This record gives sequence, structure tokens and C-alpha cells, in this order.
Amino acid sequence: MQFRDLKIQYRALKAEIDAGISDVLEQSSFIGGRKVELLEERLAEYAGVRHCISCANGTDALTLALMALDFQAGECAFVPDFTFFSTGEVVAYAGGEPVFVDVDEKTFNINPAALEKAILKVKEEGRLIPKVIIAVDLFGLPADYEAICKIAKKYDLCLIEDGAQGFGGEINGKRACSFGDISTTSFFPAKPLGCYGDGGALFTDRDDLAEYLHSVRVHGKGTNKYDNVRIGMNSRLDAIQAAVLLPKLKAFEDYEREAVNRAAGWYDARLKDYVTIPEIPAGFVSSRAQYTIRLKNETERDRLQNCLKEADIPSMIYYPKPMHSQAAFRTYSVGKGSFPVSERLCQTVLSLPMHPYLTEDDAEVVADAVIKFLK
Ligand SMILES: *Cc1c(COP(=O)(O)O)cnc(C)c1O
Repeated sequence: MQFRDLKIQYRALKAEIDAGISDVLEQSSFIGGRKVELLEERLAEYAGVRHCISCANGTDALTLALMALDFQAGECAFVPDFTFFSTGEVVAYAGGEPVFVDVDEKTFNINPAALEKAILKVKEEGRLIPKVIIAVDLFGLPADYEAICKIAKKYDLCLIEDGAQGFGGEINGKRACSFGDISTTSFFPAKPLGCYGDGGALFTDRDDLAEYLHSVRVHGKGTNKYDNVRIGMNSRLDAIQAAVLLPKLKAFEDYEREAVNRAAGWYDARLKDYVTIPEIPAGFVSSRAQYTIRLKNETERDRLQNCLKEADIPSMIYYPKPMHSQAAFRTYSVGKGSFPVSERLCQTVLSLPMHPYLTEDDAEVVADAVIKFLK
């Protein structure tokens, strides 16, 4: 059994993917072009925003978003303490400071009450200027944007939605990657919508930000690539990745998002009396980037993982270390104990195999192994 089976998916979509790649090779137009533009149109349409700007990966997407919002040294961005490293990394890379915020125990996403507290604390200290909130749609579940948008408005902060894992999620019919002033995603192969290499995208409704992003992803181009009006990056999605993503997006829309949720339901039904299963709040849809259970404590979690390994069942710990404990962030560290939820999650979470091609038999084998261990 695979943790995320990309081979079965390739076999299912092989004819279209191979034809698309072959078309790019025949045309020998590898950077930009019609396929990339078409993909951007389809992605914008899916997310329900005016503009999609593709780029080289999800980390660049966040960096480009911070550039577009004119994020500067001396300013800070509020970032969940429980996320993938990139979310905090890009803030430090841009010269500002990440301020970590504890998360909600049930949704794993940034806790709005803790966010407001962190904003007030930074204002009171007066050393940093609060500028941006980066909310993450962890494991496929959109963050609590109703509460977060209110806070952003109240304190006049920009909002970036890090939808690297969130593409395909929803809140009351509104799609993920539409909640931020700028939203970003990643097409890293294991994400809900993955390509066959690195890739990413930005989404925005604002024409001015879209225009800036088009420029800054290609060396700060003006009228063309050799007229450079600002310092930018080289961060483009290539045509082969677009050829892979076009049929994958169609499969994602047609059945894959539904399939992962069906698979999650199989786990839910079997595991709900034994472990803490992921909770999807009313009105929310998750794209199920991960199916993450919680155990009683670290010992139980680690022993379960070993036991699954012996049965040839892969599982992953996302994430073993909170942001504030990462050595790279030691200069920003606020010490142990300030993020009790995030710390507890790092000790007790375990992600089980999850992908659109998981069968009910697979789910049964995994669930049985978990239950047998707990009994
Ligand atoms: C994967 C991921 C990123 C980075 O995306 P890459 O394409 O790998 O650069 C950023 N944020 C989160 C939450 C992620 O999971």
C-alpha cells in the first residue's frame, strides 16, 4: 500500500497526460504558452477568483505574495505554529519576522482568538509593525476565514491564504484559494492537485496585484522581459507541468475530490470509537490533503506507527516539530509552553494513507490494524 498512490492516478489518466506532454514536445514551446494560460484560466474559474498567476512552486508563490503586498523589514506576519516550514520561512526570507500563533485543537488551523491576542501583544511591544496574516488550510481544511477576515479588517492587516494543501476546499460554497487578498497553492506531486515536478500558483481578485505579480514573476518585466521596471524573480510554471495539470484538474473536479472524501468516510466510520478522527466543521469541505488522527500521547502514537510499519502500512507524522522549535527560527523563539495545542499535536498526530484511489478494502486493512493495536 502507498501513502499517496500517484502511480494508480497516472495509470488512470495516462492517455491524456501522455498526449499533453507529447504535444508540448512536438511544439517545443516549453516556457509559457497556450497550455499555461489555459490552466490559469481554469484554475481561476475553479477557485472563483478573477486572476490566477502560475509560478514555480508554493514557496515562491508565498514570497511573490509578500512582495506584492510590499512586506518589509521591521514588519511582521502572523503565522500558525503548526504548519509546513515554508509558511514561516518566506516571512524571514523577505526580511520581516514571523510571529507564531497557536492553533485550534480540532481543526489544526490558526486559532482566531490566539491570533487577536498575538496582534495586540505585538502592538503593545511596539518593536514590529503588524502587516500580514498568513492563514494555512492545513490538511485540506480551509481556516476559519469568517473570524480571520474580521480580525484582518479590524487591525488593517493584509491576508494571505496559504492554500498549498487547501485547493478544492470550501466554506459554504466558497472555494479555497479565494479567501486572501492573495491566496497561494502548490502543485508539489503529493498535494491535492499535484504536477510531475514543482509548481505553484497565486490567486487574487485585485487587478493591481495581478498586474504586479505578472511582472514580478518574470524579472520585474515592464512592457517585455528586457524592459525591467522592478527587481523580481524567475518563477514560472513550465508547459509540461501545465500539460500534466490540465487533465488532473479535470479528474479532480469530476471525481477525485469526491473520492478522497468517500475514503475519509470509510476511515471515520471504522475509527471514530477508537481515536480522535478529523473534524470537518458544518459548511466546510476539505480536500483531504491528509487524513490525520490523534492518539492519547506520544508513546502511543509512536508505538502505533511502528506497529503499522510492521504490517507494511505507511503513515506519516505531519508535523513532528512546531515552528517555534525549529532551529532556523531560534532568533524569533518565544520559548516552550506558549503554544500548548501545537506542541500537543506534534506529539499525538498521525496521518494515514489517503488518496482518491484508496479502496474500501485498503481503508479496512488500515483501520483494522489501528484498532487491533489499540485493543
Ligand atoms: C507544501 C507547502 C508549501 C510549499 O509548497 P512547495 O511547492 O513545496 O514550495 C507551503 N505551505 C504549505 C502549508 C505546504 O504544505
